[in-house]
Amino acid sequence: MTYYSLHQNSAIASFKQATLLGQAPDKGLYFPAIIPAFEPKWLKDIEHHSNEAIAFETIQPFIGDEIDKSSLQCIVQETINFPIPLIDVTDQIAVLELFHGPTHAFKDVGARFMSRCLGYFTRETHQKAIVLVATSGDTGGAVAHGFYNVEGVDVLILYPSGKVSAVQEKQLTTLGKNIHALEVDGTFDDCQQMVKTAFADTSFTGKLFLTSANSINVARWLPQQIYYLLAWKQWKNKSMPPVFSVPSGNFGNICAGMLAFLRGMPAHRFIAACNANDTVPSFMETNSYQPKPAVATLSNAMDVSDPSNFVRILALFHQSQEKLRQVLSAVRISDEETRTTLRRVHHSTGYTLDPHGAVGYLALERYLNEYPEKAGIFLETAHPIKFYNVVEPVINSKVPMPESVKGVLELEKKSVMVEADYLALKAYLIRSYS
Ligand SMILES: *Cc1c(COP(=O)(O)O)cnc(C)c1O
Repeated sequence: MTYYSLHQNSAIASFKQATLLGQAPDKGLYFPAIIPAFEPKWLKDIEHHSNEAIAFETIQPFIGDEIDKSSLQCIVQETINFPIPLIDVTDQIAVLELFHGPTHAFKDVGARFMSRCLGYFTRETHQKAIVLVATSGDTGGAVAHGFYNVEGVDVLILYPSGKVSAVQEKQLTTLGKNIHALEVDGTFDDCQQMVKTAFADTSFTGKLFLTSANSINVARWLPQQIYYLLAWKQWKNKSMPPVFSVPSGNFGNICAGMLAFLRGMPAHRFIAACNANDTVPSFMETNSYQPKPAVATLSNAMDVSDPSNFVRILALFHQSQEKLRQVLSAVRISDEETRTTLRRVHHSTGYTLDPHGAVGYLALERYLNEYPEKAGIFLETAHPIKFYNVVEPVINSKVPMPESVKGVLELEKKSVMVEADYLALKAYLIRSYS
């Protein structure tokens, strides 16, 4: 498979080059040159395929022969070595639980897949890859666990001291081995600025291979298609394809779902469930794309005002808004609605949502009120324990803590405190790697 930059100003790249570079040199996002169709017979028989076989068939055409078959099978197996169950919540609404991975967030799948691809490609070149990540909490944990113990790759996570939750901090700082936590005496923006400056620092060129585990990387974006195929495998009424409601921030997840749909996977429709950061819902109403500054909400992993993957969605539909509207709706849900949905669903069904899932649930429920003959799936992107401070007061009871979270809280934190200054990061890189 080859990839082109959506800015059309860079050379065509292989999967390997696109994975190593992340973003194209012209700052565009990489996009596959063709959309490979699923074989109809294979889709029809999906219930008889193992999850590993489904994941392999879904991703393989995007890689071609750049990773040999047995290595790719191994990578795929490690990527989804936890359950992804589809569970009925009401007669019409099912939940796809994407939070059974090591950090209880759906980003585990993309991070695990990308890390193993990067490990595979750097093994060939014998050069250590140093992955730099700035995190406000969730991404760092998924990346840290995804890359843990991957040979040939070191990870440096920069996080703002005192500004991440206790669970998040422990997830970042207790792994050891090839995962290093830099605790920055500053804000998330400081962390991000330090990482950006490092990528632009030409004094490392040819000496250190610095790369990012950013969500725009094709190796993080494409494996997310697997969720939707696993949902379809478990969907009972195959004569009525589901409506998918996806809590959306950067729109990578929902974009992967629509890619799977265009390859032939059955779906009735997609709903982008957004919080008050409503650039896409407004665009669907007015035809005008006007990002405003991001605002903080209860579903904070979706506090994105200018979603980077929206250009990929437009590319999937050849820039035709008419075609896009036939497949996608976008909805905004307020914090107040998020709270009342959490409470109502807990009391009426016994199911505990997290704030992101609550946004997805309500968006789907509204659609189904309008089209009562349909049924659908919402994606639950995080375990409610990660947001217990929001969830517990609203449902007025405790969220049971999974054993793995208890375990991580007991481990000892290891971090290196640094000033919020690029020179501190540079000194650390030189000290550690030259
Ligand atoms: C990252 C994230 C999202 C948003 O996913 P996108 O692919 O960026 O749209 C939703 N929920 C949670 C819990 C997340 O961590």
